[in-house]
Amino acid sequence: MELSSRQLALKERAAAFSNGLLRKRGAEIDQSREYPWDVVEALKAERFMGMTIPEQYGGQGGSFLDTVLVIEEMARACTVSARIVVEANMGAISTVMAYGTDAQRRRAAELVLAGDKPAICITEPDAGSDASGMKTRADKRGNRYVLNGRKHWITGAGVSRLHLIFARVFDEGGEELGIGGFLAVRGEAEGLRMSKRETTMGLCGMPEGELVFEDLEITPDMVLLPPSGFRRGFADLINAYNSQRVGAGTVAMGIAAGALEHAIGWVKTREQFGRPIGEFQGLQWMLADMQTQLTASRLMLHAAAASRGPGGSAFPDPTLAAQAKIFASEAAIKIVNDALQMFGARGYSRDFPLERMARDVRMFTIGGGTAQVLRTLVASKVLGWKLPQTRDGYVMPAPDGDR
Ligand code: FAD
Repeated sequence: MELSSRQLALKERAAAFSNGLLRKRGAEIDQSREYPWDVVEALKAERFMGMTIPEQYGGQGGSFLDTVLVIEEMARACTVSARIVVEANMGAISTVMAYGTDAQRRRAAELVLAGDKPAICITEPDAGSDASGMKTRADKRGNRYVLNGRKHWITGAGVSRLHLIFARVFDEGGEELGIGGFLAVRGEAEGLRMSKRETTMGLCGMPEGELVFEDLEITPDMVLLPPSGFRRGFADLINAYNSQRVGAGTVAMGIAAGALEHAIGWVKTREQFGRPIGEFQGLQWMLADMQTQLTASRLMLHAAAASRGPGGSAFPDPTLAAQAKIFASEAAIKIVNDALQMFGARGYSRDFPLERMARDVRMFTIGGGTAQVLRTLVASKVLGWKLPQTRDGYVMPAPDGDR
């Protein structure tokens, strides 16, 4: 996909940022496991936060493709910083920009432009891939909703201010209306608390945590209601996750690009048998495969970022987004692993970046829809069938009782 001169300049600016601050901070953030507020300040100053927010709310009205260009550059050096850029431009913030009221958009923009990375709260201990099996409930009381429940593995728990929380909605008579989205701001809302931080393998400076909602009151102005209402609203709200998926796939691809860069530098300088190891065809063919997979990932992600779903959707096409995330996340794990292999023992050392990259990249076939669940989404499109995964939905008995 041809990039405009403005996009090339943006990419260059992001690369300079990454090669400067992030090259140094990537390993430090991993070791300290602390959220990098200094990086947030620098991202703010460079206007990489809230790029996709429309100009009328103080943003730059940038596209998802613009964001993807920046994310790749950040992820080459520091995965946590790249994930901050994802969430400050895609996911929850783009959901608010698509479906929020004017006041909600203004408030969300204000928070993100001030340095907030919003949190999106869907997953629960008993509802992971089966997100619609969530138990968190929102009970209508007068003109308010009262939320009770528990979410886990929420990125940014304890540091994010704006939360987009998904919950089952019940009216005052106890009738279920569907799944709705509710906005809450940490520090302002009572009844929103982080109960624990998850222990993670990688992505260490980004807290993942369990959140508990105890009689969390949501005023009517904080209900995020798409035009289709509560009954069908979950599908619309979750649609926004397609931008997040493209962002997450790009983080994986960016880590792979960084790992490949390290590997290329290394094989040209490391000598064995009296010659640079890059002279061995065994490694040359590995490099060729790594580059091929990286190029394919980048093309798929760019195409997905530039696409739009059916019906004039504000979000990337779900099938393209799923395909790009499946391919890029799986390819990235392989590319990073192969780069680590080329470093020999040093690849396995905490003094070199490959070990951190291998831990970081492993996540991206899991979070934001697993590679298996996304394949079901793609298969559904290929077949033109709905593929509900519950037993009663999926196994349709034939009229004679046989199947
Ligand atoms: P499960 O659903 O229990 O799946 C277990 C295994 O079974 C997986 O391999 C899965 O692919 C497979 N499986 C399940 N169902 C099927 C099926 N029908 N067909 C084939 N295979 C299937 N969630 C949020 O809401 N907000 C966040 O900010 C967030 N951030 C995250 C950050 C990280 C680092 C991680 C690791 C997760 C995050 N998540 C977040 C949660 C993430 O979205 C879930 O982990 C994911 O949806 C999978 O759910 P699960 O972990 O419960 O796995």
